[in-house]
Amino acid sequence: MSCKSVQLKLHQYLDGDLDLNEQLQLKEHLSQCTACRDHLLELEKTIHLVRSLPREEAPFSFTSDVLARLPKIHVGRVWLNRMKRRPLRVAVSFFLILTMAGMILSWFEEGSKLRVLSSDKNQLRIENGAVYVPAGEVVEGDLVVEHGDLKVDGQVKGNVVVIDGKVLLSSTARISGNTEEIHRLIDVILYRLRTLVHP
Ligand SMILES: [Zn+2]
Repeated sequence: MSCKSVQLKLHQYLDGDLDLNEQLQLKEHLSQCTACRDHLLELEKTIHLVRSLPREEAPFSFTSDVLARLPKIHVGRVWLNRMKRRPLRVAVSFFLILTMAGMILSWFEEGSKLRVLSSDKNQLRIENGAVYVPAGEVVEGDLVVEHGDLKVDGQVKGNVVVIDGKVLLSSTARISGNTEEIHRLIDVILYRLRTLVHP
């Protein structure tokens, strides 16, 4: 096993997706190779860091707190020097920070308003603040619901994502793609970033 193939397999290993034979091959390589052992250690550290991120949502005053702090931010001498040396890198960092801040702010401003993203909305019903796919109906393409529950008796030919709500599937429900519920703020941010990269 080469170092490259070992490092590709480490992710599967950590997910518990390798069979016994592959695990043995991997462990044998790890026992002899410091570089791959270090790589595994780094991955484990990252996973630990992600798991230890706070699970609470930001408090309601979050938006006003951020806005209140904005005028106080000033570009110091150090930053000016850095900008002269690495203009592209600084521009990219600023862009990412502003994009993230914008996503978080818009999320909070949207408040608890129910929002549905689908290219095939005709098959959908809204009942008591929840989105409903009735039995016998087929929704073509992905279905995204924000700030509300989704109840499916019919069929969705795509992925289903519910942000800040629950997915309720009946025995007749059929979903062709993945079903995902997103509750934590950090997951919302990651989801937004993902859709930014692969819209
Ligand atoms: Zn190696």
